[in-house]
Amino acid sequence: MTQFPCHGRIDGPIVMIGFGSIGRGTLPLIERHFEYDAKKVYVIEPELSDHTFLAQRGIHHIEKAITRDNYREVLGSVFERGRGFCVNLSVDTSSLDILRFCREMGVLYIDTVVEPWAGFYFDTEDNAARTNYALRQAVRDEKAKTPGGTTAVSCCGANPGMVSWFVKEALLTLARDTGADATMPESREGWARLMQSLGVKGIHIAERDTQKSTRHKKIGTFVNTWSVEGFISEGFQPAELGWGTHETWFPEDGNRFDTGCQAAIWLNRPGAITRVHTWCPTPGPQFGFLVTHNEAISIADYYTVGDGAAPEYRPTCHYAYHPSDDAVLSLHELFGSGKIQARHHILDENEITEGKDELGVLLYGHAKNALWFGSRLSIEETRDLAPFQNATGLQVSSAVLAGMVWALENPQAGIVETDEMDHVRCLDVQRPYLGPVEAHYTDWTPLTNRWTQFAEDIDESDPWQFRNVLAS
Ligand code: NAD
Repeated sequence: MTQFPCHGRIDGPIVMIGFGSIGRGTLPLIERHFEYDAKKVYVIEPELSDHTFLAQRGIHHIEKAITRDNYREVLGSVFERGRGFCVNLSVDTSSLDILRFCREMGVLYIDTVVEPWAGFYFDTEDNAARTNYALRQAVRDEKAKTPGGTTAVSCCGANPGMVSWFVKEALLTLARDTGADATMPESREGWARLMQSLGVKGIHIAERDTQKSTRHKKIGTFVNTWSVEGFISEGFQPAELGWGTHETWFPEDGNRFDTGCQAAIWLNRPGAITRVHTWCPTPGPQFGFLVTHNEAISIADYYTVGDGAAPEYRPTCHYAYHPSDDAVLSLHELFGSGKIQARHHILDENEITEGKDELGVLLYGHAKNALWFGSRLSIEETRDLAPFQNATGLQVSSAVLAGMVWALENPQAGIVETDEMDHVRCLDVQRPYLGPVEAHYTDWTPLTNRWTQFAEDIDESDPWQFRNVLAS
């Protein structure tokens, strides 16, 4: 990018909640791509280690943790009715309560996960209550109860977020490449019918992060390329997946929901030690962790044809995440010891010496077997494109930028998920930050190169059964 396009003007205050790895990367993109009143930017962050960035720009720092008891007062002290933008990039704050308050005030809102108040992830033995299904359904119920109104974009990071736009691009690519009708559908039902007609059985959100530094991970430190706290929280939630209509087997520890959209199931085990067979362009076949994510549920729900409880068609959908090598070691240590490490470390753009984040969607089970569509962003390219973040961060922060642009252009769209947004417009804004965005077909299936020495519970009649994807 030789010059940075201005995507619009934000009138009123910009309030960023949380200034961790994603906040640090997002603020420079906001600076680049929007006009706004520089005197009205606020960062609410309880643990700021370096004040330089904010001080240099005259950004107000509110040194507080947002809580259930103070959020109306703290946010109310800086919000202006009917103007401004709240960008929630924190952990331990309730997305639902904050977006509700923003909409009451007429303030645009965006976040990257449905985050709960502190305690949600660990303070109950009731695993169904700790699911992303429960978190998402509460936001969907709020949407149904209060349709329309001020736009609040829910879950607009890389995943959840950008990957929902990739699913649509991948479907159009697959339609073109198989000689099917590649006219862009105009409704949710149209998109779901397109996926059904192309014979897609399911989708992996297939990611391989190879970013590393030259220093070895030390015992007692959890190393990751984004929020350690966020990753541990979601890793400890039960594994969850959108449950497709082609599945003939049901996991022994699988559980359904009897309220809400009913698009997903949860397994009675933590996602961060649930391994699945998957595929990305650089490594080819690999293990990924089936960590629960909002998009596994939202995509399965969005592409459902027919009744939620007894659909005519629905894809299976789940995350299949191979995090950075240090993060894999960190999980191994954490689950082996039963203790969360005392030290947390996010690898930043200065210490990462090599690697890329390859994040895409693997659409499988169709006439061309499987198609991976995604971003293959290297650390080198990231450094050239934007400051203060690694490749993982830029895939997220540029999605936040795209979501903010869409919200400004659609300020009365109510509560939306990324599946419901104009993916062409959003990718138009985001794509300059994604490095190579590519489509790769593969003839790999979960039954390719399986070791036959040990009997596995597999179904040879259909390679794409979840039974074959789940590693024993
Ligand atoms: P981080 O851990 O680096 O930063 C989170 C920040 O929130 C910290 O600086 C912390 O001090 C602050 N915070 C904690 N409690 C707070 C409170 N009560 N009020 C205000 N601030 C508080 O995390 P990150 O990597 O910047 O991620 C930020 C959020 O984005 C997390 O929720 C994470 O799960 C999410 N995320 C989403 C995606 C995606 O693709 N959708 C990707 C990465 C991160």
